[in-house]
Amino acid sequence: MLALVLLIATTPPLVDVAPLDPRWRLDIRYATKDNFFGRRVYPAARCLLRPSVAQRMKRAQAWLDAHHPGLRLLFKDCYRPHSVQFVLWNAVKGTPKSRYVANPHGRTGSIHSYGAAVDLTLADADGRELDMGTAYDHLGPRSQPRFEARYLASGQLTPAQIRNRRRLRRAMRHAGMRGIRNEWWHFNEGTSRTVRRRYRRLDIPFSAVAPRGATNKDQPPGATNKNEPPGARTTAGPASQPYRPRKD
Ligand SMILES: [Zn+2]
Repeated sequence: MLALVLLIATTPPLVDVAPLDPRWRLDIRYATKDNFFGRRVYPAARCLLRPSVAQRMKRAQAWLDAHHPGLRLLFKDCYRPHSVQFVLWNAVKGTPKSRYVANPHGRTGSIHSYGAAVDLTLADADGRELDMGTAYDHLGPRSQPRFEARYLASGQLTPAQIRNRRRLRRAMRHAGMRGIRNEWWHFNEGTSRTVRRRYRRLDIPFSAVAPRGATNKDQPPGATNKNEPPGARTTAGPASQPYRPRKD
């Protein structure tokens, strides 16, 4: 019994996704300056997710293998420490861009901080990204699935671009992930409410999750980021807020 308790206490709540399929690629923009904010805010280019969400990625890939052989997942963003959400928020608050960033002071904050959201696209067998009509993180209406019919009709999105987005959505939907209205690349495991009920918001550093084949004995999984701002500790709020899709 003690061994079981110790195992639970020392098992990180996230898993490293990349080793689960050697075909998958990572392009984690927040580990570079090539992102919405022009600043590097992750110490490493890693995709960490809740184990159940990681399994859903395998299901999505299996669907692609069955229906569109050669296509594979390419990850842009996965778990985001809650303290990083403060960094992003502080960079945009008071500006028009703030409407695209989840407020970390809110009840939910970003679903990415629960390890239950993923930003991703599709790549072909040679690793080339499929044309989705806009770049990842293009913050404009052409990125928004709710306006696709309009842009298709006006010729600003092509049938091939819409088809590629639909393939991504079908794969993710088959795996039990939910898209949102305003970003073709973002998918959640459930609603804000169900995610809050199931998981705790996290602020563990990336280094708390050992890479494939490694152990991590010097960084307890409950450790928090040294740069964590006040009030950014792991929290789990009450479940009463309606689901409001946004840039998170
Ligand atoms: Zn996202």
